[in-house]
Parts: sequence; C-alpha cells; structure tokens
Amino acid sequence: MQCPYCQHTNSRVLESRSSEGGQSIRRRRECLNCKHRFTTYERIEFVPITVIKHDGKKESFDASKLLRGMVRACEKTGIAHQRLETIVDDIEAYLQQRPQREVTTHEIGQLVLKYLREENEVAYIRFASVYGRFKGIKDFVETLEQLQEKTIASSVSQWSESSSSDRDKSQTSAYLSLTHNGLDNSR
Ligand SMILES: [Zn+2]
Repeated sequence: MQCPYCQHTNSRVLESRSSEGGQSIRRRRECLNCKHRFTTYERIEFVPITVIKHDGKKESFDASKLLRGMVRACEKTGIAHQRLETIVDDIEAYLQQRPQREVTTHEIGQLVLKYLREENEVAYIRFASVYGRFKGIKDFVETLEQLQEKTIASSVSQWSESSSSDRDKSQTSAYLSLTHNGLDNSR
C-alpha cells in the first residue's frame, strides 16, 4: 500500500479492526519511510458470477441453490450438512477468484464431483447419476470399476431406499445387476 505522503510502498500495520458491521477491515498504518500514519480499508470484492445452463440460458450463481441440489443428491450418504456447506463455500470462493465471470453448469458439476469423490464415494456416484454425468452404461461401469467394490456393496441398500425418481430407479437396477455380476461388463 503506497504511502499518501511519500509514495513509499512499505508500511507497518499498527492496528486492525472490523468496521462497517464486519463488511470491511480498517487498518492504521505507519509508513516505513516518512513515518506518517494513514488508514486503509479492506473490503471483500463481490463479483457476480453468471452460470450458463445446458440450454444456453444464463442465471446468476446461487450458492444456496447449489447447496440444495447437493443436499438432495447426498441424502443418506452420511455427509454432514455442514461439510456440504463448506464445499459450496469453497466452490464459490474458487469461482470468485477466477478471472472468468461465467461458468457453465457442467463446470460446476465437475467441481462438485471433484470434492465429493474425495469425501464420499457413495455421494459421488449419487450426485453423478442425478447430475447426469453418465452418458451411458459404459461410463457408469467404468466409474463403478474405479471405485472400491466393498464400499459399493454396502451402499446398495441405502441407495435403493433413497431413490425416488424413475431415473434413479433405472440407474439402481443397472447398478444392482452389475454388482451381482461382479462388475463384469463383458455382457
Ligand atoms: Zn511515507
């Protein structure tokens, strides 16, 4: 931060405090060169992010909407709601700091999948199926093969219970028959 008196770029912070109801931080600084004191305010720069949907329509990025979708997809997978909130915060922070002001729903889906994959394999598969990542049975089999069979087997009952839509049901039965065949995709 350049000194307003001598334009020197180094200063020492004497005091920092929250200001404007927590919306900014006020810092009292002292120039390391001329010793003059001055005040700076640091604010969060909020930049709206535009989401481009599959059909080409645009809408503003809405973190609470993303969270609702994730909560729905991650029902009964054992991920704490608070953890999902943290993931959404991380995704929003990532989108805010990118130079691009637009993001496609596909990119958002990929980001969610990246986090869920590290977090919980069942949640990952469920989100991927809800989100429509699987183009066909081949993709589905490949994804399943990458995951641990043990985790998958223990999740089958949970998953079939919580499936509601027809899409989920068809995915579930494909999933069950694959599991019964030991993930053999030769048929
Ligand atoms: Zn100065």
